[in-house]
Amino acid sequence: MKLYSTRNPKHIVSLQEAVFKGLADDGGLYLPTEIPVFEADFFKQIHQMHLQEIYLEVAKKWIGSAVPETELRKIIKRVFYFDIPIVQIHDNIFTLELFHGPTLAFKDVGAGFMAGLMAYFIKDQNKEINIVVATSGDTGSAVAAGFYDVPGINVFILYPKGKVSPLQEKQLTTWGKNIKAVEVEGTFDDCQALAKKLLSDRALNTQINISSANSINIARLIPQSFYYFSSYADLKLFGNSFAYSVPSGNFGNLTAGLLAKKMGLPIDFFIAATNVNDVFPNYLQTGTYTPKPSVETISNAMDVGNPSNFERMMDLYPEFEKLKQNIKSKHYTDDATRVIIKEVFEKYSYTMDPHGAVGYLALRDKIKELGVEVGVFLETAHPAKFKSVLDSTLNTSIEVPERLNVFDSKPKVAIPIRNNYDEIVQIIKVVNGI
Ligand SMILES: *Cc1c(COP(=O)(O)O)cnc(C)c1O
Repeated sequence: MKLYSTRNPKHIVSLQEAVFKGLADDGGLYLPTEIPVFEADFFKQIHQMHLQEIYLEVAKKWIGSAVPETELRKIIKRVFYFDIPIVQIHDNIFTLELFHGPTLAFKDVGAGFMAGLMAYFIKDQNKEINIVVATSGDTGSAVAAGFYDVPGINVFILYPKGKVSPLQEKQLTTWGKNIKAVEVEGTFDDCQALAKKLLSDRALNTQINISSANSINIARLIPQSFYYFSSYADLKLFGNSFAYSVPSGNFGNLTAGLLAKKMGLPIDFFIAATNVNDVFPNYLQTGTYTPKPSVETISNAMDVGNPSNFERMMDLYPEFEKLKQNIKSKHYTDDATRVIIKEVFEKYSYTMDPHGAVGYLALRDKIKELGVEVGVFLETAHPAKFKSVLDSTLNTSIEVPERLNVFDSKPKVAIPIRNNYDEIVQIIKVVNGI
């Protein structure tokens, strides 16, 4: 597998380099130089395959000989120990529940697979790797879960003091071992600035290996394509034409779906569902891309004003008309999101989280005009992660699964720092024994 930078097609790297770099030096994102395509026969018998076999076939198709099959099999087994079920909501509307992993959100899939690939690639290096991640809440915990106890890798999670929910803070600070939570006196943007400075600090990077784990890493998109294939295997008996509605922020999940389609998966349409951070639906309507500052909403993981995967989407769809034909998009307010959460709960006894609810809304609004037989929306997080929104919307107290309570009972361990670069460098040096 070879990858190029979206800003320079001649800048070609190995999978290993793309995984450790995350972002290319020229600021571009990595995409495969060639997208492999499955034969039609593969899709004829896909519903007879075991889930992990589907994941393995897709992984092999992407990765080729860059990682041996036995290793891929191990990584897949370790990451996908949980289900990714399809649930019928009503009629021809289904949801793909991506929230059964360790931190109850789909980011577990990408983070776990990336950790597995990195652990494999560093086996033949004798340096430890330091993963730095800035988080406003959820990404950090998924990365912690993915990298927990992986040999040769230290993880530094930078989070803004007092600006994550109490439960999120517990999910960031109760791991121990190779996971270090760093509580920064500042905002998320301050954390991100510190992380960026660490990654580009040449002097420091000659002494120790520093890498990022943010959502632009191609190692996260690869496994996110798997569940489009496996869900298709479950759904093909329900119809012959498909629309997938993807609640989107940085558009990583949607881009993984577009890659699956390019690999031959017969998905007819994608629906990019957003909250009032509507840069993408605006782009489809006007043909002009205008990033803007993000606005806070109840589906906060989608509060993105300049989606990082936009560059990848532009490369996958160089023709605007074709993009418009394959991808529909619509945005929704918090009020509309709350109304639909209540409606679906009362009518169909299904509890959606605010992100999935935006996906449902867009699917319900678009499915008729698209004329497809089967519609799926991605449920990207467990509703209990947004308990206060759900409780106030449904006038009840929703149940919190045991997996989330586990974090609550453990003590918080975090290293407090000021918003000061030297302090974070010092911590990393101490952990690395220099
Ligand atoms: C990250 C996230 C999203 C947005 O996913 P992208 O790949 O960034 O578009 C949606 N829902 C939840 C719950 C998330 O954590």
